[in-house]
Order: sequence, then C-alpha cells, then structure tokens
Amino acid sequence: MDIPADKPKRKINYLNLFWLTSTPIAAAIGVTWYWVHNGFPWANLLVFTLMYLATGLSITAGYHRYYSHRSYECGKVLQLFYLIFGAAAAQNSVLNWACDHRDHHRYVDGEKDPYNIGKGFFYAHMGWILYSDPYANERKKNAPDLLKDPFVLWQDRWYPFLVVAVSFGLPTFLGLLLGHPLGGFLWGGLFRMVVVHHMTFLINSAAHVWGGKPYSMNNSARDNWILAPLTFGEGYHNFHHKFPADWRNGIRWHQFDLTKWWLWITQALGLTSKLKSVPEPLILKARLDVEMEKAKQKLASNSTIREKAQEALDRGRQRFLSAMERYQKAKTDYSRAKRYWSAAMRREIRNDIRQYSKELAAARQAWGQAMRLVNGFSYSGAKNMVFLTALADIFRSR
Ligand SMILES: [Zn+2]
Ligand SMILES: [Zn+2]
Repeated sequence: MDIPADKPKRKINYLNLFWLTSTPIAAAIGVTWYWVHNGFPWANLLVFTLMYLATGLSITAGYHRYYSHRSYECGKVLQLFYLIFGAAAAQNSVLNWACDHRDHHRYVDGEKDPYNIGKGFFYAHMGWILYSDPYANERKKNAPDLLKDPFVLWQDRWYPFLVVAVSFGLPTFLGLLLGHPLGGFLWGGLFRMVVVHHMTFLINSAAHVWGGKPYSMNNSARDNWILAPLTFGEGYHNFHHKFPADWRNGIRWHQFDLTKWWLWITQALGLTSKLKSVPEPLILKARLDVEMEKAKQKLASNSTIREKAQEALDRGRQRFLSAMERYQKAKTDYSRAKRYWSAAMRREIRNDIRQYSKELAAARQAWGQAMRLVNGFSYSGAKNMVFLTALADIFRSR
C-alpha cells in the first residue's frame, strides 16, 4: 500500500487573516458612511480611477507580464512606476509575488502550486494567503534574475513603508488637493485596494473554473471573456498558461486586454520595447490540436468511420497550418525586406500575400465546417457513409 508523503504543515498567518477580512468590511462601512454624510463628490471617483489604473496596471503589466514572465523590456522609469504602484496594490513585494506566480505556472494544479484550484475555489481565491507557505524559501530559487535586481530588492525592503505611503498616503493627499482628504483615503485607498485585490484573486480562482479551453486541455486554466474587462485582460487565462511569455493575453484585436493596449501605447512612447509574441502558426497549431482531440473523443466510439474520419481531419488540419505558415512567412518577408526591394518585386510579393490570404480563409472555412459536421454528428449506421462523404467533400473542394 502506498503511504502518502507527509505534507508540510501550514500555520495560519494572522496578519494576513486580519488584513484580508477587515479591509473589505472597513471599506464597505467607510464608503457607505461617507456617501450618506457627504454625497458623492466627483473628486473621489477621480482619485479612485487614477489609483485603480496605476495599481491595477502595475500588477498586470508590471508584476505579472514584466517581472514574472519577462514578456517585454522596459526602462528604469517604468520599472520604478510598477514597483511603487505595485506595492500600493498591497499584494506582497514583487519578489515574493513573482516567485509564487512562476511556481503557479510550473506546478499548475499540483501540490506545489501556491494557489492550487484543486484545493477549492476559496483556497485558490484568497485562502492560500491566510496560511504561511512551507515552500517559501524553495520558491526563491525561481528568481535569480530578480534577486540580482537592485530595484526589486529595494522594493522588497521598503514594501511596508510603500504600502502605507502610496496605497493610503498618496490618495489621501490627492483628496486633500481636491478638498476631500477622507474621500481620497476611503475611495482611492481602502476601497480601491480591496477592488484590486479581488480583481487579481479572480484570476487564480474563477479563471481556473469557468470558461473555455481553446489552447490547452492539460491544466485547469480557462479563457473567460467576462472576466477579461474586470481583470485588465488577464481573463484569457488558458492562452496565458499555454504561452506565458507572450506579452498579450487576449490575442485577437476584439479581445478586451487593457494591459496589452497599455503596453502598446508605452511602446509607441518609447518606454517599452521587445514585446515577445508567439508566432501565429504555433498559436493556430495549439488550437487545432485541442479541436482535433475533441473530435477524436467524439468519434472514438464509432469504429466504422473513426480512422477514415481522422485521416480526413488530419489532412484538413495540415492544409490549414501550411496555409497559415505560407501567409505569415510572406508577410514577415515583406515587412523585413520592403525597403530594399524594387517596386516590381514588392508588387509580386503583395500578390502572393493576397493569394495566400485567400487560401488561408478557405482553409479556415473548411476546418470550421468540418468541426460543425463532427460536433453535430450522432451515431447511426445508415449515416456513416453520408458523414464520411460530406467530410471528404469539405476538404476536397479546397
Ligand atoms: Zn493560472
Ligand atoms: Zn502568468
């Protein structure tokens, strides 16, 4: 009989327990009391919004995409901004935050995942913070780059001071300038901190429970478009776990990812550079692998057509991937070399791009049609041949 290994004992962290339970209560009472006695001055909303954006983006663009994943490069000014306002989010120093987060990716859904969703929604959301972490020292091995960064070490040392000064002192001061110091403290300090806390916590809880898995079925992370606006774009979490080094989480132009837009703007201003993105054919391959796996599961019980159907789908998938590779390569070649080419050569490659784009659209349409056919198919002896012929026709005509 297997004897389970002893799990390290966890002690309750009373400071965190007090902080995470008292601040939402104090914020709710304080904001309501202020509203009843002083109305709703626009200055409070302004201070709240400024502090919300600065601290929220410092967590998503700074703590997460820059310090934890190094998905781009940025200069000292922006680094300091992220460190100062990241501390004001009161979610620990970036050194500890990034060590936890790197282990979350490395051990996702396992015992050493600090916010393992397998231990329940509440545990992944905030329960894990209420206990001391038995792996805290071990996790530091994760971050040799951060341990060498003097700014990061400075922030780690001064973290409690920064929380007091920037999370609460600054909004109170901004409120004072606008004639509402207590409003600034309550809205821009306390209430804003609680909102940003739970906005981050939702990624560890809800984005591992609700939503689709378009890029990987190997872990619990989900893409959730409702969470995306609440979390500055981090709701596209299934993509993020598959490709954590990509600077985007919502990769399509229509997917709400405020952090992506912020990085794009700071790049235009020269503050951010070398945004890392995964090549489009690799992203497509991940998506098609998932869809192929689901199709295989759907057809698994039908031994009469299983193999032939899979062969046809494999051909369609390969054609789709090749079309994407040709199209992306032509586009990359064109953008790299257009300065040195003659007008005639540029025209030629533009025609190629147009042609490849049409082939890509046809391959995409065929794949979509095939998936609809497979998903709508229900087993019946008489329908087998009709199904196979229809599937073959989809890919034959394109
Ligand atoms: Zn996650
Ligand atoms: Zn991450």
